[in-house]
Amino acid sequence: MRIGQGFDVHAFGPGDYVTLGGVRIAHDHGLVAHSDGDVVIHALCDAMLGALALGDIGQHFPPGEEQWRNADSRTFLRRCAALVAQHGHALANADVTVVCERPRLAPHVERMREALAGELGCALDQVSVKATTSEKLGFTGRGEGIAASAVVLLQPRAVAAPVTGEDDAELHAFVQRVAAEVEADVAHPLSQGKVAAGSAARSREG
Ligand SMILES: [Zn+2]
Repeated sequence: MRIGQGFDVHAFGPGDYVTLGGVRIAHDHGLVAHSDGDVVIHALCDAMLGALALGDIGQHFPPGEEQWRNADSRTFLRRCAALVAQHGHALANADVTVVCERPRLAPHVERMREALAGELGCALDQVSVKATTSEKLGFTGRGEGIAASAVVLLQPRAVAAPVTGEDDAELHAFVQRVAAEVEADVAHPLSQGKVAAGSAARSREG
């Protein structure tokens, strides 16, 4: 089993809706972001990547890259789910908490769960979304933005799954690229840790 946690914040800006958990919700502001600013999905992706020790969402989908401008964050989620499968794991469950004063999210929570479970290809009871306020305290309390935190638990599966689904070729290429980086010890914090521990051991011996 592997556990991961994620956290994300986006500020309110001009606009007339926010996208949270893949669900479009009418509001008198939008969220400022390079992508669609979906804090729920971003926190969830970071939790999944964290569980695999594969870095963070910014490394995999750099905000400076043109291809992610106004990106639908469900693409990020599908890619993270593919990475989980490719690394021989499956989602056990995910739990997300969204914090804002407005818009009122309670009426939308079930649709978010359904949307997320749909993207992750898991059962509804594996995905929890909870909405709360910060009692008018702090930046969320002042209505300056929305925050979300997520925890996921991954369980090993017998065989690493082949990547299937929509836009197969592109998704497959993405997973292959990340897997290759990991194998080459380029971007894998665990591998770097191993190297560091190894050289420390050697210097002790020396
Ligand atoms: Zn974000």
